[in-house]
Amino acid sequence: MGAAGVVVGAPALKFGEVWAQAPATPAGTVKLAEDLFILTLPGEANVIAQIDAKGVLLVDGGSAAGADALQKAVASLPNAGTVHTLFNTHWHPEQTGSNERLGKAGATIIAHENTRLWLQQNVTPPYGGKAFKKLSKIAQPNKTFYTTGKTDSDIRYGYVADAPHTDGDIYVFFPKQNVLAVGDAVSGQGWPVVDWWTGGWIGGIVGGLNRLQTLANAETRIVPARGPVLSLADLRAQYEMFGKINDQLNQMINKGRSPSEAVEAKITKEFDAKMGNSDEFVRRAFESLWAYVSPDA
Ligand SMILES: [Zn+2]
Repeated sequence: MGAAGVVVGAPALKFGEVWAQAPATPAGTVKLAEDLFILTLPGEANVIAQIDAKGVLLVDGGSAAGADALQKAVASLPNAGTVHTLFNTHWHPEQTGSNERLGKAGATIIAHENTRLWLQQNVTPPYGGKAFKKLSKIAQPNKTFYTTGKTDSDIRYGYVADAPHTDGDIYVFFPKQNVLAVGDAVSGQGWPVVDWWTGGWIGGIVGGLNRLQTLANAETRIVPARGPVLSLADLRAQYEMFGKINDQLNQMINKGRSPSEAVEAKITKEFDAKMGNSDEFVRRAFESLWAYVSPDA
């Protein structure tokens, strides 16, 4: 997989220990550049922190349960100031758990407009057995966009319109450091979660991988919400794999097959040794096609 960085901020890790822990995303901080870090807290999705003259910019804010720990981790970064900007790469609670705290503190919360719309309503997907409560007004994104944008400090961001994970997925690109944050639009660890209830789909996974490759070069470090840093080569390999899976699922839905039949067909078996059990992924990926593909009647 991709290259890990140097762990700092964790209690006095020796060099050998750092690499022994990769790529299991150790608790600690991965240094991407002098001013750019990945904060990896146990049980939490990756958070990216950039230190600038005005304070701190975050890409995603972890879960609400982890908000205190995240605040401490941010404060421990060299020259850390106040968080002035927070990106939500999508609406999921693993990414938006610091919105309330940071919104109250006056931070600019940037997201795709669809992310704001999901956060304004209760969401109860027909899978996963969980209901998600809407966020309070202060916790909602207060600066939304549809296509692309850039900050005063020239950080570029844009919509992953293919909808790989949700219909509000965005990337955030740090040109100076050549780091591309992709949220859950790309899975860095195991099979992706296809949240088709809020717009994600298997065709979007393929399309998103294609789109994101155009933003990266061989040196770009690509940071997903889960798992280690990825490279352009990793995105290419994933594009091939999900392209194949997408083709097969489309053939099955056009033959009138059911989600259970898609699972039973074991279409991912050549990848399972590396990726793990795919049953849940295949079921949801197949279901996701219902919204986008009309099977032959
Ligand atoms: Zn997610």
